[in-house]
Amino acid sequence: MSDPRIHPLSSHLANQVAAGEVIERPASVLKELVENCIDAQATHIQVTVEQAGNKKIAVQDNGIGIHPDDLVLAASRHATSKLSDSEQLQQLSSLGFRGEALSSIAAVSQLTITSRQNQQEYGWQYSNDTRPTPCQHPIGTTVMVQDLFFNVPARRRFLRSDKTELQHITTTLHRLMLSQFDIAFTCQLGNHQRISLPIATNQAEKQQRIVKLCGRTFIKQSLYIEQQYQHYHLTGWLANHEGHRPNTDIQFFFINGRIIRDKVIQHAIRQAYFPFLPEGRHAAYILFLTMPFDALDIN
Ligand code: ADP
Ligand code: MG
Repeated sequence: MSDPRIHPLSSHLANQVAAGEVIERPASVLKELVENCIDAQATHIQVTVEQAGNKKIAVQDNGIGIHPDDLVLAASRHATSKLSDSEQLQQLSSLGFRGEALSSIAAVSQLTITSRQNQQEYGWQYSNDTRPTPCQHPIGTTVMVQDLFFNVPARRRFLRSDKTELQHITTTLHRLMLSQFDIAFTCQLGNHQRISLPIATNQAEKQQRIVKLCGRTFIKQSLYIEQQYQHYHLTGWLANHEGHRPNTDIQFFFINGRIIRDKVIQHAIRQAYFPFLPEGRHAAYILFLTMPFDALDIN
C-alpha cells in the first residue's frame, strides 16, 4: 500500500464499489429497473434485452414519471423519493428505498433515463453526466442500460455464457411477472423470445398467466388456497400429491409483493409436503402472503 492515509472515496468510486454489491449480473439490473416501474404505479411494463443484457437492457413504463429537475438526482447515490424519515422505514410498502440502484448502474454502464410526468408536454432525457435535454416521450419512464460493466473488466469476465445470463434474466422476470397480476408485461428477449402478458384481474386470467409462465401441468395438478389469520392473508396455488417436480423451479413465495427466498419458509413447506414427496422430488407452489408492513423487516 503506497499511501496509508485515509481519504474519502470519490463519488464515482463509491458508486462502483456499491455496484459490486447491488449489480451482480444483467438480471440484477433488470430486477432493479422493473421494481422501480412497479413502485411508480405502472400498469404496463415493456422490457427489451439484447445480447443477454450485455449490450442493452431497456425498461419502459407508463407510471408516474420523474420530475425533470429530479432526473440527475435519480441517478445519484442515496437519493430516493420513497423514504423521508426513519418512521417510514418501519412500514415501507415500496420495493425500493435505498436509492442505490440507479447510481450503481450508472457507475458501471452507459445509463439513459427518459421520463415525462403527466402535467408535462414533453419528456426529458438524461445520460451519464450530461445536462437533461427535452425530447419526445409518452407519459412514464424509460431507463436504458448499455454496455454493462464496460469499465469493470473483472466483472465482465465473471459473467457466464449468454445462455446462462439469459436464463437468470428469464427467472428474474418470471418472479416479477408472478408478483404483479395487475401489471401487463411485454418482453422481447433477444430476437427470438417474446413474452406478452395482459393484466390478469380474475381467477381465470391469473391462471392463464401462470400457465404461460409455469406450464399447464402445474395448474392442472394444483389447488387454489385462501387462508386468513388475524392480519395475515395467505393465497396461492399448491401442487397436489401428484404435482411434485424433479427440481425447485416452481417454488415462489411472495410477502407483500416481494419475492422471498427464506430457508425457514422453504423448510416449513418441505415439512408439510414431506409425507407426499417421493425421494429426490420437490414441492411446487406459488404463494402470496400479505401482512402488516410494520410486522416485516425488509432487510
Ligand atoms: P430507490 O428505488 O431505492 O428509491 P433507485 O436508485 O432505484 O432507488 O431510484 C432512485 C429514484 O429514481 C426513485 O426513488 C424514484 O424516485 C426514481 N425512479 C427510478 N425509476 C423510476 C421509474 N421507472 N419511474 C418513476 N421514478 C423512478
Ligand atoms: Mg429502486
